[in-house]
Amino acid sequence: AEAHAAYAAARPRSAEIHARARELLPGGNTRSVLFYTPFPTAMVRGEGCRLWDADGHEYLDLLGEYTAGLFGHSEQRILDAVRGALERGINLASVGEAEARLAGLIVGRFPSIELVRFTNSGTEANLMALAAARGFTGRVKTMVMRGGYHGGVLTFASERNPVNVPIPLAFTDYNDPEAAMRDILAEGEELAAVLVEPMLGSGGCIPASREFLQALRDATRQTGAVLIFDEVMTSRHGRGGLQERLGVIPDMTTLGKYMAGGMSFGAFGGRADIMSVFDGHRPGTLPHAGTFNNNVWSMAAGCVAMGEIFDSPTAEALFARGEALRTALNAACAGVPMQFTGHGSMLNVHFRRGPITGPYAATEAENKLRELFFFDMLGMGIYLARRGMAALSLPVTEADCARYVAAVEEFAAARQPLL
Ligand code: PLP
Repeated sequence: AEAHAAYAAARPRSAEIHARARELLPGGNTRSVLFYTPFPTAMVRGEGCRLWDADGHEYLDLLGEYTAGLFGHSEQRILDAVRGALERGINLASVGEAEARLAGLIVGRFPSIELVRFTNSGTEANLMALAAARGFTGRVKTMVMRGGYHGGVLTFASERNPVNVPIPLAFTDYNDPEAAMRDILAEGEELAAVLVEPMLGSGGCIPASREFLQALRDATRQTGAVLIFDEVMTSRHGRGGLQERLGVIPDMTTLGKYMAGGMSFGAFGGRADIMSVFDGHRPGTLPHAGTFNNNVWSMAAGCVAMGEIFDSPTAEALFARGEALRTALNAACAGVPMQFTGHGSMLNVHFRRGPITGPYAATEAENKLRELFFFDMLGMGIYLARRGMAALSLPVTEADCARYVAAVEEFAAARQPLL
């Protein structure tokens, strides 16, 4: 209550913006992830990895738009690409050169992708990948992980989520290779697809073990189910995504977030024989339409983002910066029940000791600490996801990382009695 009061007192303008929005939008927003009590901070401007809110506070942006903001808020080459595309005409109801160029950049990077198609979001990419798997196999059921997240309508924290699209589902546990093998083999030829994040993103930056992903690979090979890696968030972890880093190659991959330089984007791709279900040259083609699938600003920004900026050394340097930061953060909170999990530039705080290998039901005390952590960090001028995730963007420097480590040390010292 004290943290909320201090937060609210410093943000009268954000409070006003929220009050007005609440009259028109349920909960005052249009993205559930941005909801928190008493009201969310309204940002009005961003530059590089800095943000300014409506009440004039400046923040170090370590949220990086939940991974979509990889290039920061003012990367000149992205801005030029978007402006240039829009000046040539706002969408032309036509195919364009940029589309095939961006496809080439993606196919050239991801070992699992021989053919690719674009969507407006990661959610759509996953829905279309599942459609492809069903069309290709002639089967209907999809296996997902308990605690997995693949978009607003594919949210598996609970097995019975009324918001999910009505597809027949089977569940297995994250990071349990024996259970996964057993569950997939038990489904046998019922199963069209297995959909998995190679690191749980929204579930708390919890990496999958190589053994677990390999078990999924081996079991799906045996039953003929299509193995889909959702790399919407994790594709940033190397030139060819986390799949290349871990050496487990799925049949299909879904992408999104940062790849169009921060413009709306999604993509799904995979083996040529599977993706050919969308080939209009063939009889019985599956439909995949979408007004904005190849919108000119996303395609143009994507070519620059993936073709010029996020090259292999840049991806490796970002990964290394994140690994170093996570190591430093964990050193800073050694001795208290607090730790940071993740891979590379994505990390999440947890308030418990011991290895974290899968989703868990947080206690009331853990939830309170997580909330306190978020508000304390905001108070120190550091912007994170409410759930405690950070996703570094390219403009984040070593000095910025050091500032986060110092803030975590301060939190651990000041809140010691509660930990
Ligand atoms: N898949 C994963 C792993 C995600 O983290 C997200 C979004 O956070 C999505 C899919 C959905 O992407 P979008 O929000 O672009 O629909």
